Amino acid sequence: MHYFLLIFAVLGSFFLVLRTKPKHQENIKLLLAFSGAFLLALTFFELIPEVYQAKSPKINSVFILLGILLQVFLEFFSKGAEHGHMHLELPENRFPLVLFISLSLHALVEGVPISEENTIIYGILVHKIPVAVILSVFLVNSKLKRRLTLLFILLFALMTPLGSYLATENSTIAALKTPLTAVAIGVFLHISTVILFESAKAHAFDLKKLLVVILGFGIAYFI
Ligand SMILES: [Zn+2]
Ligand SMILES: [Zn+2]
Repeated sequence: MHYFLLIFAVLGSFFLVLRTKPKHQENIKLLLAFSGAFLLALTFFELIPEVYQAKSPKINSVFILLGILLQVFLEFFSKGAEHGHMHLELPENRFPLVLFISLSLHALVEGVPISEENTIIYGILVHKIPVAVILSVFLVNSKLKRRLTLLFILLFALMTPLGSYLATENSTIAALKTPLTAVAIGVFLHISTVILFESAKAHAFDLKKLLVVILGFGIAYFI
């Protein structure tokens, strides 16, 4: 069920973009700010307590910092696509392999902490929608063939369910669940704070954005 929702969030966003060809990014920006706040709060409410219940808190902190580093590294290649930004150009009509690999690694790690015991799945779902919309707008408007675009989105949609599946079904990966969840925390801390910082236009006071952020925190608290 969770896997289906995750795949649907990405594919649904893609087909919505194909059908509606959105021009205005304003609403997406608010959704993006909400998703950043919501994901950040769920990371604090759900994942951080979970990881620190395990022994050796300092080791877990090391893995969280490694997760931040991993995300910094991935964004050299993806140029911020994970936090809903396309700072890059696709010049030729070739499958954007580097972008794909960096996004897929990110999405795989993201799948690890999903479990019945926490509600991080909702944070990931809400985060995926604006990211998938912005990625789809970018791919649809690029010179990439429609077939390759579809392949890109389809494989990308499968990555988070795959990460989640491996973390529960594969015994080697399941044994590393706590450190890998700590890595995912680092990834979430990085992308959600970048979303919150970047969605401010020149640090101008933005009431709508502030309300949306508070709403994100609040819903995460009560969920
Ligand atoms: Zn960015
Ligand atoms: Zn993500």
